[in-house]
Formats: sequence, structure tokens, C-alpha cells
Amino acid sequence: MSARFLTPFLAFCPECKQQVTATALFTRAEAKEALTTGAELEVMHATDSDHRWYLDEQERENLRRRIGTGEV
Ligand SMILES: [Zn+2]
Repeated sequence: MSARFLTPFLAFCPECKQQVTATALFTRAEAKEALTTGAELEVMHATDSDHRWYLDEQERENLRRRIGTGEV
């Protein structure tokens, strides 16, 4: 069984307004399900004050591709 949670990946943090290493607040199985159902996927940028947001359409596609290739 592979790791339940995804490897942190690059995503655009709306608070930092730049690409950051984002931590997924969902498991690999939840990500696959949400990419099918359209459910929101929340990620976190761990800093002094944690930034949280939901992946937009572009980032969802990036995540779908990364899961497909086994990158995350
Ligand atoms: Zn941030």
C-alpha cells in the first residue's frame, strides 16, 4: 500500500501570490474521488500562519496529471 497522503506539490498560494510547496489535506483516494465528483480539494501552505485554499480548475488538472504519472 502506498502512502495515504500525497507528496507535497507546487501550487499557487493566493495569500503569498506565488508558487509554493502545498500540503494536501486529503488522501490519494480522496483526491481521485474528488477529481471525479468535482468536490473541493483543500491544500495548505505551512508558514508562520498556515494558508489554506481550494485548488482551482488549472491546479486540479495539474494534480490529476501528477497522480496519473505517480509524481505525487
Ligand atoms: Zn502562502
